[in-house]
Amino acid sequence: MPARFAFRRYRLPFRAPVRTAHGLWTEREGLILRLENEAGAIGWGEVAPLQGFGTEGVEAAAEACARLGDTFGAEELPRIPPAFLCLRSGLATALAELDRPEEPETGAARDAYLPVAALLAAGRLGLAQIGPKAEAGFRTFKWKVGVGDAADELILLDDLCAALPAGARLRLDANGAWDRRRAELWLERCADRPVEFVEQPIAPSARRADDLLLGLAGDYPTPIALDESLSGGESVERWLGAGWPGIFVVKPALLGAAPAAWALLAKAAADRVVFSSALETAVGARSALRLAFGWPATSRALGFGVWPLFVDGRFDGPAAGPFLYAESIRRLNVEVLWTALS
Ligand code: MG
Repeated sequence: MPARFAFRRYRLPFRAPVRTAHGLWTEREGLILRLENEAGAIGWGEVAPLQGFGTEGVEAAAEACARLGDTFGAEELPRIPPAFLCLRSGLATALAELDRPEEPETGAARDAYLPVAALLAAGRLGLAQIGPKAEAGFRTFKWKVGVGDAADELILLDDLCAALPAGARLRLDANGAWDRRRAELWLERCADRPVEFVEQPIAPSARRADDLLLGLAGDYPTPIALDESLSGGESVERWLGAGWPGIFVVKPALLGAAPAAWALLAKAAADRVVFSSALETAVGARSALRLAFGWPATSRALGFGVWPLFVDGRFDGPAAGPFLYAESIRRLNVEVLWTALS
């Protein structure tokens, strides 16, 4: 039997604008999906598009939801066009929740808590944040690069590395801002520094981006992470097929309904996966974090150090600390979000 389907749209201002190499971002738009079956079980999903990642837009997703009518069944999922990556992800999540008895994934999770990467502000502001965050217990730090003046950022890299507590590591995220020359310069610099990886040095839209990324990954010792290059399950399968030796930053919200890609990742690269936020609400984050807690390898620090994120705190996931606890995920009450949007 198909389940009753409903969706609500949200537009949520961020507490502070998010600054990346793509510019300033001030609010999040998306959809919350709700399925309810005859037995009264409820499944939640979220559509949190990031068009910079090649997903559909929120408008198109909302129109597609309206066309679904007020029921939806698992047999309809394959009919959602592949280009609707986020809608497919959200519907697949909601369907899976319908079939799942009370919260077994987190309840039976191997790890009761997972480490979280501390997000540092871009530029010099990030430097002053290391001390307090280290004090709080963070040992993985993430710093956006390709945002300000390149020469200044390179000098700052040394200051940041010097400020790290013993054993800590730094993730750099260029959000595709560099060309090959600049990426090489940075990767040379990173080679003997405590840099865990350099994320998306080259934009996926750059000429011969895939070859360039594979070349850089082979030429330098610091691992390179794919983030914007991963959009949809096929992209994951393609990179695995190409023998990608680096890290996969996976935003489950953007992968589409992709069981084959997940299975391949778990088999071939489980210890090279970083679960990461798409700056979605607690609905999407909850399903992403359940995956992380059930992942068959010791987790690298989660890219979920984003909360509090929204002006309306009801939409936030658990506040960012050095660890995320399975219990906090279990306690999230997503019904509250739904009601807030009525
Ligand atoms: Mg990134």
